[in-house]
Amino acid sequence: AFEYAPAPESRSIVDIKPSYGLFIDGEFVDGHGSAFKSINPATEETLAEIAEADAADVDKAVKAARRAFRTWSRMPGKERSKYLYRIARIIQERSRELAVLESIDNGKPIKESRDVDVPIVAAHFFYYAGWADKLEYAGLGANPQPLGVAGQVIPWNFPLLMLAWKVAPALACGNTVVLKPAETTPLTALLFAEICQQADLPAGVVNIVTGAGDTGQAVVSHPDVDKVAFTGSTGVGKAIARAIAGSDKKATLELGGKAANIVFDDAAIDQAVEGIVGGIFFNQGHVCCAGSRLLVQESVADEVMAKLKRRMGTLRVGDPLDKNTDIGAINSAEQLARIRALAEIGEDEGAERWAPPCELPSAGFWFPPTVFTGVSQAHRIARDEVFGPVLSVLTFRTPSEAIEKANNTPYGLSAGVWTEKGSRILHMANELRAGVVWANTFNKFDPASPFGGYKESGYGREGGRQGLSAYLKAGA
Ligand code: NAD
Repeated sequence: AFEYAPAPESRSIVDIKPSYGLFIDGEFVDGHGSAFKSINPATEETLAEIAEADAADVDKAVKAARRAFRTWSRMPGKERSKYLYRIARIIQERSRELAVLESIDNGKPIKESRDVDVPIVAAHFFYYAGWADKLEYAGLGANPQPLGVAGQVIPWNFPLLMLAWKVAPALACGNTVVLKPAETTPLTALLFAEICQQADLPAGVVNIVTGAGDTGQAVVSHPDVDKVAFTGSTGVGKAIARAIAGSDKKATLELGGKAANIVFDDAAIDQAVEGIVGGIFFNQGHVCCAGSRLLVQESVADEVMAKLKRRMGTLRVGDPLDKNTDIGAINSAEQLARIRALAEIGEDEGAERWAPPCELPSAGFWFPPTVFTGVSQAHRIARDEVFGPVLSVLTFRTPSEAIEKANNTPYGLSAGVWTEKGSRILHMANELRAGVVWANTFNKFDPASPFGGYKESGYGREGGRQGLSAYLKAGA
């Protein structure tokens, strides 16, 4: 029989409870820290009260994960695989709910959570479900072994996707998990906990502890955590590296970025302009691999800038649940303040600031799509990660000047190259010190493709076959 399904953008399809506990050993329990609120950044309304895990709660979660490890790690890979497939299918079935909840808690446009985040989340679980019984092909010998309990700490920009990048490979390899979502976006991780219950995942295999930096610190420094997986800022990544130095914990750190998106004069300019817009304004620019520095060849700079400004004028900023919205809300008041401060510094340092006329809602946190021209490499907006919808434009004359400028950053996560010359793409890919180099596209992700940084963008790779080695030790 035909059943009426509400439009995906409808808030009514999600059931947000007034309060949430911690997910430990297969059930929701009270936390012993002081509860905090998760708010909707587009309206500033309180969505729910969230429990805070203190060190004792984290210890309880690690103990549950350790107990579950005994059976989970010894279970045949094909059995673990069944659980992962089941989780993947439930994610697909509940994709509308997940997308709406992600947009409400994070502020991202529904067309992104619906068409990008949630489908890639499901794809990650499907992909790693396929690996669980084929670990002898991971490249670590005939019988590679899981590491044990993984302590995973994630940021707020892609709450579900970062969870999937961490949980799916960990479980496929036979590890168990204690995951801490970001304090401003805990709701979809807690819905994922319900999905684990629905999938009958054995208790303790996945534990979710909510809280802020102190909870994260308790997770990564717990003596019985064997593996630390962190995605977040370079500052916190360095603090974690110091905290675990000298221990035998294995770690992967996925940190910040300041990617160059490089447009040569032989590029298909209209296509490049779309790539520039997607590169920096996707997800409000809250993207570690955002193309936040446009390097454009001098001879086409005027044409590119004219087309870019025209295209920016068509971007719709507003309600994340409206399917026509291109740019949603900034995730928090703190992040908005950080973006505003850096934009002001850009002006003070003499760069020229431009944004199309656009009316921003009165409540909530908003920032218009913004571009700075006349930027030099010494400017803070060319060096610091803004993590917002702010593009800095620099020009170059020769390919070697483009390479020199693109690599002139402490980061090395990603880069984009726009040219019709295949030989130039290969040359640039070899010379750019970035973990990912996209050619004639930007911000493309696939579970089969490894992702990770050079320099201060971190170490280790997530995704693909390479992502397995972060959760395995070589076997006999
Ligand atoms: P953040 O570093 O402030 O926080 C990340 C997580 O770490 C949060 O869950 C936070 O509560 C926790 N945390 C804070 N202090 C901690 C501590 N001392 N010990 C343990 N955990 C702690 O980052 P953010 O503002 O949430 O996210 C934005 C940053 O994440 C940007 O720099 C962005 O580039 C980066 N990021 C990187 C990738 C990547 O794959 N390289 C992907 C997404 C985001």
